[in-house]
Amino acid sequence: MDFTIPPRVEAYRARIAAFVERHVIPLERDPAAYDGHGNIAPSELERLRALAKAEGLWCLQLKPETGGAGLDKVGMAVCYEAMNRSIFGPVVFNSAAPDDGNMMVMEKVATPAQKARWLDPIVRGEVRSAFAMTEPHPGGGSDPGMIQTRAERRGDRYVVTGRKWYITGAEDAAHFILMARTSDDARKGLTAFLFHRDSPGWHIVRRIPIMGPEEHGGHCEIAFEGLEIPASDVLMNEGDGLKLTQIRLGPARLTHCMRWLGLSKRCVEIAREYAAVRQGFGVRLADRESIQLMLGDLAMRIEIGRLLVAKAAWALDRGSFARKEVSMAKVHVANLLHAAADTAIQINGARGYSTDTPLEWIYRYARQARLVDGADEVHKMVLNRTLEAEGDAFWSWDAGE
Ligand SMILES: Cc1cc2nc3c(=O)[nH]c(=O)nc-3n(C[C@H](O)[C@H](O)[C@H](O)COP(=O)(O)OP(=O)(O)OC[C@H]3O[C@@H](n4cnc5c(N)ncnc54)[C@H](O)[C@@H]3O)c2cc1C
Repeated sequence: MDFTIPPRVEAYRARIAAFVERHVIPLERDPAAYDGHGNIAPSELERLRALAKAEGLWCLQLKPETGGAGLDKVGMAVCYEAMNRSIFGPVVFNSAAPDDGNMMVMEKVATPAQKARWLDPIVRGEVRSAFAMTEPHPGGGSDPGMIQTRAERRGDRYVVTGRKWYITGAEDAAHFILMARTSDDARKGLTAFLFHRDSPGWHIVRRIPIMGPEEHGGHCEIAFEGLEIPASDVLMNEGDGLKLTQIRLGPARLTHCMRWLGLSKRCVEIAREYAAVRQGFGVRLADRESIQLMLGDLAMRIEIGRLLVAKAAWALDRGSFARKEVSMAKVHVANLLHAAADTAIQINGARGYSTDTPLEWIYRYARQARLVDGADEVHKMVLNRTLEAEGDAFWSWDAGE
């Protein structure tokens, strides 16, 4: 088993780490660097994105012919962790959700004409995108089989009616991927479409207020009342919606984990800094065994997360959907992020509860991790299903050639 990473990946990691340390972390302390929703202000983002592009640290996850560096998923795991040492990091490098997942899926499945129209402007950083799948009750959430938004074929067009919610980035996005029902077939009933913000026949009902800081463009409820989409803007083929979802969501879930590992490490970093200097009852916090156990436990759980993520990334790189590997990584790292923020706040005392450090930001953000891209329970259900199907082979070694 070889846990080394290629020198090229290590070089990217080191350059990202230096960039984040020099340009991004200092902004976290400047209230003027935030927009009204707790994210990096657009003017600062534009400035840093230009810098990242100039330094060749842009869209590293995409192929060179798409405008990236051709990192594989294992390489991405190394680099994304370094990006998200800062709460502002990933979006600066165009490696934040939902653009990240949308770009990767389009790179994989879109036609050349679709790539030119829908993908390239996102890669250039000119527009943002959104992925619209989840619906309010009684529509599809954890179970995509319940999706009710309909796209009815009329000649060379589809006409869409229905409702979606929690669509990240919708208020700022120009390019949308939409999942809609084109038939009642259990496997082939869903189809993925591309549409532009300026098309008539849909609108944003509301930007849903949430407990955490928000991605640019918020999390929106949107309604479709006759949006017309030409057949040429179907992604893959009619009936391939579920397949596209699998192709998109596996890697997208894993990239969340890659980034959350960076945030988890940051929590430990802030906790260790305080524990190293803070005295109480004549003893430094870092010298107390109770604090050492907390930090040792987090260090171990972070490393477990990295191993799960690296294995899932390796499996994806070998062409597998890596369903069980991604599910295990997603459940573990989502809960780890929550625990890391909580523990770091505890070690920092009242300071941890203030906005003087990014810990409270991470704590509020972390709660969504156990819901988005599949709730914990759904991933565990999938894991049990795999266990039922594979039995002891669930843990089989890949013996190779
Ligand atoms: C911040 C944020 C951003 C999001 N961004 C997007 C986006 O950009 N695009 C998009 O399409 N969606 C987005 N979502 C939606 C997200 O993907 C869904 O919330 C998620 O898939 C769960 O669906 P649901 O909320 O309908 O929960 P439900 O399906 O209503 O489930 C509710 C709860 O029931 C339990 N449950 C469900 N199924 C099972 C089961 N099989 N076994 C045991 N328990 C179960 C779980 O605890 C679950 O949390 C976002 C959500 C949030 C919070």
